[in-house]
Amino acid sequence: MPDDMDRATALTEAHHAESLGAVTRQLRQPGTPDCQVCGEPIPERRRKELPSARTCTPCQQAMETRRVR
Ligand SMILES: [Zn+2]
Repeated sequence: MPDDMDRATALTEAHHAESLGAVTRQLRQPGTPDCQVCGEPIPERRRKELPSARTCTPCQQAMETRRVR
């Protein structure tokens, strides 16, 4: 059954890649890579500009607006 073999290999590779990606992400970005307010992933550009960012841009702006007032 070549089809079954291929599927099993693809699944294993996908799972492996996913695990590696999760580890790499944790090493590169300690803390949470997702916005703590809305749970959306923080854009990579924003994380590069502000590595300590814990929120996405709209949520950060909303918090800053709230803080000013
Ligand atoms: Zn957000």
